[in-house]
Formats: sequence, structure tokens, C-alpha cells
Amino acid sequence: MDFEFSDEERAFVERVRAFLAEEAARPDAGEIMQPNRESDSILADTPARRAFCRRMAERGYLGLSWPVEFGGQGRSGVFEYLLNEELARVGAPLIGKGVGCIGQTLIRHGSDQLKREFLPKILKAEVEFALGYSEPSAGSDLAALRLRAERCDGGWRLNGQKMFTTSAHFADWYWLAARTNPQAPKHKGVSLFLLPMRQAGITVHPIETMGEHVTNQVFLDDVFVGDDWLVGEADRGWTYICEALDYERFTFYTFSPLEQKLDALIELAASRRQDGVRLTERADTRRALARLATDVETARGLQRAVIWAASHGEVPGVEAAMFKLFSTELHQRLANLALDILGPEGLLSKADPDAPDHGKWEWSYRATALDTIGAGTSEIQKNIIARRGLGLPLAG
Ligand SMILES: Cc1cc2nc3c(=O)[nH]c(=O)nc-3n(C[C@H](O)[C@H](O)[C@H](O)COP(=O)(O)OP(=O)(O)OC[C@H]3O[C@@H](n4cnc5c(N)ncnc54)[C@H](O)[C@@H]3O)c2cc1C
Repeated sequence: MDFEFSDEERAFVERVRAFLAEEAARPDAGEIMQPNRESDSILADTPARRAFCRRMAERGYLGLSWPVEFGGQGRSGVFEYLLNEELARVGAPLIGKGVGCIGQTLIRHGSDQLKREFLPKILKAEVEFALGYSEPSAGSDLAALRLRAERCDGGWRLNGQKMFTTSAHFADWYWLAARTNPQAPKHKGVSLFLLPMRQAGITVHPIETMGEHVTNQVFLDDVFVGDDWLVGEADRGWTYICEALDYERFTFYTFSPLEQKLDALIELAASRRQDGVRLTERADTRRALARLATDVETARGLQRAVIWAASHGEVPGVEAAMFKLFSTELHQRLANLALDILGPEGLLSKADPDAPDHGKWEWSYRATALDTIGAGTSEIQKNIIARRGLGLPLAG
């Protein structure tokens, strides 16, 4: 594995940094760049955030890896990875599902009409999507989804419930998986649709999570969707969903927040004393910090392994599972040590003016649990590593 970036890639990072430095000087920068936030949904749909995304689009930062014929730049996904790392470093919104799984799936499987309708809007950051996969009884076992799409004159009628749809409270369009053929084996009767979030029959109920990430339950009651909004072929949705995971390898979980949290944790330890001794001079704290520093470097290596394999045309399913498992649990361990260092004060939330570090660590302690669940739980990542990586049989 060669982890060195090319001159072109390094020059790209410099351009992104210059753009972000300009952005940091804007009067509304505080609304856009929030390095200490633990949840993307906190930024949600503010006008400042949308305007920032449009400025990214104007600079050509959306669709870097899309084919030129669809308005992209035909570059390697490594550029999207580099861009997202720089965005994460300053706490700005990342490029996400629009240019990622949705745009890429439309490019490969969408009708000409869907391509005309959505691709230019995605490239100009004019449209927000919500992903409707999970249901009350279909999360880890997504293929068990039951939301029903039944044929009717000119289209389909949708009935059922989705669970944990992040962004549903502000998105314009719903990218939704539904069961179109209940007789077929469960992986074969699923289809993907696009439908306007404000379509009659859709009700959105917010779910507040322990990490302040707002997600939603979405109910669909006899919602009509025309044939034109079916993505690709009916009953082939499962294939598209699995394929789309591969488009996201380059933008899947960023590393730089781990590095920043480690630095902040060292500063925190250096600023506190116990029995008159600075914590960074105590053996137990030094041991814990050295261990975490080693783990942060391990996470960097695991992420680079994903990027390296993906940029060499391989499908790094096992590498991505290892990185997701290790890095999300490492975020939790960083927060745990911070609370150990802070003692009872660590329980003060950011709402309390006396909270150390403005309540950053207490929030981190609550929020980091969520990343070990979303996009495949830790147990599911371990199953992938055990089965695909180690060739072990299914658990008995
Ligand atoms: C913050 C957040 C945002 C999300 N955003 C979205 C979104 O925008 N769109 C969307 O569609 N979904 C979203 N999700 C849903 C997410 O993908 C699911 O929560 C996740 O896949 C787990 O599914 P579940 O919650 O139904 O739990 P279950 O699948 O019911 O799992 C419950 C427990 O059982 C364990 N388990 C399940 N199966 C196995 C197994 N085979 N082996 C071992 N252990 C197992 C799990 O690890 C877990 O601990 C989001 C979730 C979170 C937390």
C-alpha cells in the first residue's frame, strides 16, 4: 500500500483550504463551521448552510467523481475523500448522499427524465434528499422491509412506515425503498422510488436522539407515485442499494475529528490537576492518552486502507467494516476518558454555563453512541469481518 498523495491531490487540498479560509472570514461562518458539533442534523437546513453548499458547488466541489458527460469532473473518489476530510476538520457540512449514493445510482440506473430532473440540481446544491431505508422491523436486516408499493393506474400506491429517516423534516425529496413484490424472495422484491417529501399522505414525526441528532419516523398513507419516479427497474432495488455502498467508500466516515478530539483531550488533561499534580504527569492518564494516540493512528491506517483499495478498483467491504467499527468505538473511548478526567463536572451539559469545555465532552459521550448504530451497527460490522474477512461460518 502506498499512502502518499500525488502532487495534484496535495494541490487540491491547498485549494480547498484556501476556500475554507475565505469562508471562515465570513460574518456567518459560525453558523456554517462548528468544529465541536457532534451531530450534522444540528446544522440542518439553515439558509447559511444551503448558501455554503451552493458556494461549494460554484467552485466545482460537487460531482468531482461523476463522469464528465453528466457535469462531473471524472476524477478519482480520492478527491472527494480529501474534500470531506477538510470539511470535517473545520466542522462544515460534508458532501453527502446527493452527490454520493443518489446521484451515482441515477447516473447508472436512472431514466433520462430522472437524470435531467435531478443531476443538475444536485451539482448546484439545489436539492436535499432523505434516505428512507430503515423500518421498525427492518434495520440490520434491511431486506425484511415491508413498506408496500402496489401497482395502480399510472404508478404505485405506497403504504407503511419508515424509521430513522434523517433529514425528512427539511428534505425536498425522499429516496425510498419499498416492497413491490411480496411473493419474491426478500432481496428480490424491493424497488427504489423518488417522491416529493411534501406529497399528500406523508407524515413526518421527529425522533429526538440522546445525541441531539434529529431523525424521524415517516408514515406513508396511500401515497401516489407515478411510474416516472421509479428508479431503474422494478424489483431490482436491492441490487442498487448494495451497489450504492461502494460509491460511498470515499466519503464514509471522516478521520480528522478523531485527531482533533485527541488533541483536545490532551489539552484538557494538561489543564487539570489532581492532588496538586497535573494530570499529564500522572502515570494512569499518560498511559490512557498514549493508548488512545496509538488507536488514533490505527484508525488513520484503517481508513487509508479503505481509500487505497477503493482507488485501486477493489471493493473494500471488510476494510470499511473494520474502519467503521474501530473509529466509531474509538470516538466513544475518547469521550469516556474525558469524563473520567472531568469527574462529576463532566456531567454538566452545554446548557450549563459552568460546564467545562462548554459541555463538549458530555455531548460527545451521548452522541458518539449513535455512530455505532447508524449505517450498520458494530455487531453487523463484526459479522462482516468474521464472515467475509475471516471466512467464518454464520453464527449458530
Ligand atoms: C442517528 C441515526 C441516523 C440514521 N439515519 C438513517 C437514515 O437516514 N435512513 C435510514 O434508512 N436509516 C437510518 N438510520 C437507521 C440505522 O441504519 C439503523 O438504526 C441500523 O441499521 C440498526 O437497525 P435497527 O435500529 O433496526 O436495530 P436492529 O437491527 O433491530 O438491531 C438491534 C440490535 O441487535 C443487533 N443485531 C441485529 N442483527 C444482528 C445480527 N445478525 N448479529 C448480531 N447482532 C445483531 C444490533 O447490532 C443491535 O444491537 C439511522 C440510525 C441512527 C442511529
